[in-house]
Amino acid sequence: MTDTIFSKIINREIPADIVYEDDLCLAFRDVNPQAPVHILVIPKKSIPKLIDATDDDQALIGHLILVASRIAEQQGISDAFRLVINNGTGSGQTVFHLHIHILGGRSFTWPPG
Ligand code: AMP
Repeated sequence: MTDTIFSKIINREIPADIVYEDDLCLAFRDVNPQAPVHILVIPKKSIPKLIDATDDDQALIGHLILVASRIAEQQGISDAFRLVINNGTGSGQTVFHLHIHILGGRSFTWPPG
C-alpha cells in the first residue's frame, strides 16, 4: 500500500475535518480550499491514480461519485457544483491517492485552467 498523506488521514495518524465516512470511502475538507465548499472524497483502498483503477474497482468508482453527489446535496450546493479528478502531475495531481474534488459555493468558468 502506498503511504500518502491521505492514507495517514484514513488511519487517523493526522487530523482532517471529516464530513462523511463509510466502509469504502472517506470525505474531508480540503486544507487549501479553492471554493467556499471544497471537499475531497477518497477510497479507503489505495489507488494512486484513476488510470490505475481496474474493472474490479467499477462499483467503488461509482460509489465515490454518488457519495460526492450526496455530499454536495448535504452542503447545499446541489444546483451548481463541480467534481474534479486530476490524474498525473501534468494535470495538477499532487497527492497520489485517488481523490475526487467537490467544489461549490461560487461560479465556475469553462474551460478550466
Ligand atoms: P490534487 O492536486 O488533485 O492531487 O489535490 C490534492 C489536494 O489535497 C489539494 O487540493 C490539497 O490542498 C489537498 N490536501 C493536501 N494535504 C491535505 C490535508 N492534510 N488535508 C486536507 N487536504 C489536503
